[in-house]
Amino acid sequence: MNRTDMWRRVETHPKAWDMIVVGGGATGVGVAIDAAARGYDVLLLEQSDFGKGTSSRSTKLAHGGVRYLERGNIGLVMEALKERGLLLQNAPHLVHDLAFVVPNYDWWEAPFYGLGLKLYQLLAGKYGFGTSRILSKEETLQHLPTLKTEGLRGGAVYYDGQFDDARLLIHMVATAFEQGATLLNYVEVTGLTKDTQGFVDGVHARDVEDGNEFRAAAKVVVNATGAFTDLLRLKADSAAESMIVPSQGIHLVFEASFLQGTSAIMVPHTSDGRVLFAIPWHGHTLVGTTDTPIAAATLEPVATEQEIDFILATAGQYLTKAPTRDDVLSVFAGVRPLVRARDVASGVVSTAALSRDHVIHIDRSGLVTICGGKWTTYRHMAEDCVDQAATLAQLPDRPCTTHHLKIHGFHGAASAFGSLAVYGSDAYEIRKLIESDARLGEPLHPALPYRKAEVIWAARREMARTVEDALARRTRALFLNARAAVEMAPAVADLMASELGWDTSTRKKLLAAFLHIASNYVLSS
Ligand SMILES: Cc1cc2nc3c(=O)[nH]c(=O)nc-3n(C[C@H](O)[C@H](O)[C@H](O)COP(=O)(O)OP(=O)(O)OC[C@H]3O[C@@H](n4cnc5c(N)ncnc54)[C@H](O)[C@@H]3O)c2cc1C
Repeated sequence: MNRTDMWRRVETHPKAWDMIVVGGGATGVGVAIDAAARGYDVLLLEQSDFGKGTSSRSTKLAHGGVRYLERGNIGLVMEALKERGLLLQNAPHLVHDLAFVVPNYDWWEAPFYGLGLKLYQLLAGKYGFGTSRILSKEETLQHLPTLKTEGLRGGAVYYDGQFDDARLLIHMVATAFEQGATLLNYVEVTGLTKDTQGFVDGVHARDVEDGNEFRAAAKVVVNATGAFTDLLRLKADSAAESMIVPSQGIHLVFEASFLQGTSAIMVPHTSDGRVLFAIPWHGHTLVGTTDTPIAAATLEPVATEQEIDFILATAGQYLTKAPTRDDVLSVFAGVRPLVRARDVASGVVSTAALSRDHVIHIDRSGLVTICGGKWTTYRHMAEDCVDQAATLAQLPDRPCTTHHLKIHGFHGAASAFGSLAVYGSDAYEIRKLIESDARLGEPLHPALPYRKAEVIWAARREMARTVEDALARRTRALFLNARAAVEMAPAVADLMASELGWDTSTRKKLLAAFLHIASNYVLSS
């Protein structure tokens, strides 16, 4: 993948695209894969980097959503469990199963959660992961050696999936490309064009890198802009009612020692009624999340002090060594695009019932909006969306083919590649880079496993355009250890400058932009 070649495709494209997808998160890229795999001619435009929005800021769980069981939403859980299974089947290099332990402190918790988790396992059917069961106190501590023992009676273990969200996304971008889609990062859709009857028939867009503006025509435009959904809908219809209620969730990252072992903790009910996870992730401990209503979404949301204090305090209730601000290696926030639910009887849109399911909405102008849902269900969301968009655009009827479509880099034994496992079969190519120039095998920082070759690979083959792209989403340095990422940044800027031909002022500007953003991920004491 290469941005210059993608541009060439756009410039030489002779006619209207079958479909233009706006938004390069999990939802938009999923739609691009599905549509391209059906043989439709697809262009996807992302205003920033692929995954810059919510899709790089999740808890990184491919899950059915245990807590929806409590609310009796069996259909939603079964759908997500099936998608979790397909994700593991199609991207085994990026998704793996993980044991989650619910610690029990009251007598009723073991049978209560044990039963619920057994149901969760049964609902997965042939897509099941491991067998859930009730654990004794000793077994619970074998799974979670750093769990507080005071009052501990035992636990219940169940299995879900874990993945690296931004890396899965970039492999999905490559998959869409291999299926024939054209995808551009750093191109903002600034407006929608309409035909004489008022139907959306294309987009106005601007290349963020050089400011060039252009128009692209399409038989149908899909709005997959996540938390920014309403902004694009307003461009089609200035009277469009808002669909999204943005809510922020944060995570804190600590050293692995806070959660020794390979299992995660799942706390079903924190003091604010939410679920909290403490998860081993890339040799670190990831703890989250919160659910804080916010007025409006931004591309670079910032954790509040209240959210940070809440996670530290809650983690401290369960871990033998209570983490403090000084232990936080990185803090990151993401915005949930929750969909407003309309009360059927009154027709009133209320914020009281926020749907966690996905919604496909077709405006009077013919703009197709897909929002809500979750990372885990992106494939199913895309299938639904492309079915409806293709009908609307009168595209030739073609069935979805993504159930068994392998994600780029597919490899059944990628763990053999060590720290390069997340690249799947691309690890061979990165190794070749190191064989051709031993200096590219040098580590970028003693605290993280990343090597110089990964930056070259990101710029050359994964469309990384900025220092931030390389440190936040191609590698996960910023999310794992923000101070280390800041220390790595000048060397990363040098490597990217030589690969992408940056002049001194571009290098300086992109390094400064990264350092500015990174300051939000570093927690001062
Ligand atoms: C804290 C948190 C934890 C979560 N954890 C999980 C989890 O563990 N498992 C799970 O399954 N789900 C999880 N989710 C949900 C999941 O992350 C989201 O459902 C998913 O990432 C949404 O993807 P998206 O593509 O719709 O949105 P986004 O990833 O936000 O993508 C939308 C994109 O549209 C782009 N865009 C906007 N306007 C324009 C424009 N005018 N022109 C071009 N581009 C534009 C944006 O830049 C953005 O990149 C979590 C969500 C949050 C907030």
